[in-house]
Amino acid sequence: MTEDAQPAADPRTQMMNAANPAARVPPRIEPAFNVGSLLNLMIIAALVGALAVLFWFNPAQFGFYPRCAFYEATGLQCPGCGSLRACHQLLHGHVGAAFQLNPLFVVSLPFFGWLGLRIIVDTLQHRPSSVGLRPFWLWTGLAVLLLFGVGRNLPVHWLGWLH
Ligand SMILES: [Zn+2]
Repeated sequence: MTEDAQPAADPRTQMMNAANPAARVPPRIEPAFNVGSLLNLMIIAALVGALAVLFWFNPAQFGFYPRCAFYEATGLQCPGCGSLRACHQLLHGHVGAAFQLNPLFVVSLPFFGWLGLRIIVDTLQHRPSSVGLRPFWLWTGLAVLLLFGVGRNLPVHWLGWLH
């Protein structure tokens, strides 16, 4: 490669770059759309659509909802059993009925609401989602899920509220 091929060798260019270092950095061009943001928007749209279906079609009356494979196979309730029916009741403002169907789902909703809100805010600010949980909270959540799953299937009178 010869010196003529390198524009930086031009003394005028060197002087301009020394006076304004930012001139060396090419301007940053924002992409027309962000794939991550588009995906998040699609997830939000799907969620809103699913909530609309849940509002108008009670899972206790309509059979097109997915059935719990664990319940079908064992006859035991998994930690998520009753969540769709609880969600339908919540959308109609029946918190007590929702709690009876799946108390853990109802109690954990504020957390999922906070998580969803954070994802929406990140999407609107064109940032990658920064949702992260410390291992301690992940393990605690897993333990609560396991205890709830076992407790709601035990034939113990004082655990009846978990069913
Ligand atoms: Zn289930």
